[in-house]
Amino acid sequence: MLPLPDDPRMTVAEAWQAGREHLAALGIDEAGITAEVLLRHAMGVSRTGLYLAWDRLLAEDAWTRYQAHLAERARGRPVAYIVGRREFMGLEFAVDERVLIPRPETEVLVETVLRLTAQTPAPVVVDVGTGSGAIAISLAVLRPDAVLVATDISPEALEVARANAARHDVASRVQFLEGDLLEPVIAAAVRADVVACNPPYVAPEEADALPAEIRDFEPRVAVVAPGGPESLHRRLVGTALRALKPGGWLVVEVAAGQAARVVELLRQTPGYRTVQTQSDTLGWERVVSARRDGQEGSEGTGELLSPLV
Ligand code: GLN
Repeated sequence: MLPLPDDPRMTVAEAWQAGREHLAALGIDEAGITAEVLLRHAMGVSRTGLYLAWDRLLAEDAWTRYQAHLAERARGRPVAYIVGRREFMGLEFAVDERVLIPRPETEVLVETVLRLTAQTPAPVVVDVGTGSGAIAISLAVLRPDAVLVATDISPEALEVARANAARHDVASRVQFLEGDLLEPVIAAAVRADVVACNPPYVAPEEADALPAEIRDFEPRVAVVAPGGPESLHRRLVGTALRALKPGGWLVVEVAAGQAARVVELLRQTPGYRTVQTQSDTLGWERVVSARRDGQEGSEGTGELLSPLV
């Protein structure tokens, strides 16, 4: 517990300072910004609201909530779960322990999908393992003509994703399917312009060495690939040809250092061409894309051509 000062009537500025020092003393990164976010959440104010109240006394109930938030952070709970939200692609997503917290690197995947579909009217995009819905929902918002299909093996994650779709007013354009990777997509005979996925990619034997805030709080099914680091990429590469239109793209996120192996896998799998990678802001190749062979539009209308003669 954060020790109460001699005079419990603290200003907002003093509360922030006390929280920052408390977190820093525990070795928690970004103590200043974390204390600020938790204090704002406890007070229910924006950043401007916080500064306007800076020299005022902090209300007792806000102080109590602030202490509880600091204690949760001190035991390792990620800030996004404490405040119940996380920003991704400039949009706010509700998050809790049922879903992975969306990461900034994944924005590279969304940007790649936007670029690859720039010339495709009303693209059909599948987001495999949607979690919070971050990828599918930001694509639905940024491409108002796109049709989205989002899958997850976790029914609990789909509840979070559905709520996020409603929050961003795109529920009618995102179809949610429960199931393992592409299974429900193939069963529904969806033909996609893009299959996108940020799969779990941590090897089971490395799971214990993860930072405690990931290991102890984020869903294991979202983080750990039971068959080894690229096992889910391999399954996706193997099945995506059945869900993609000819000329459609498979776009997958990879762990830092993993891109070369996934590139090689795609180069060796018949049915793919144009393998390429995109890097994140730290310079790691983060996204690998490859195109299904065949002409765009060579399949899809279902119309039989009349014989020429
Ligand atoms: N698609 C979600 C995200 O990128 C969840 C991914 C996952 O749970 N592995 O944030």
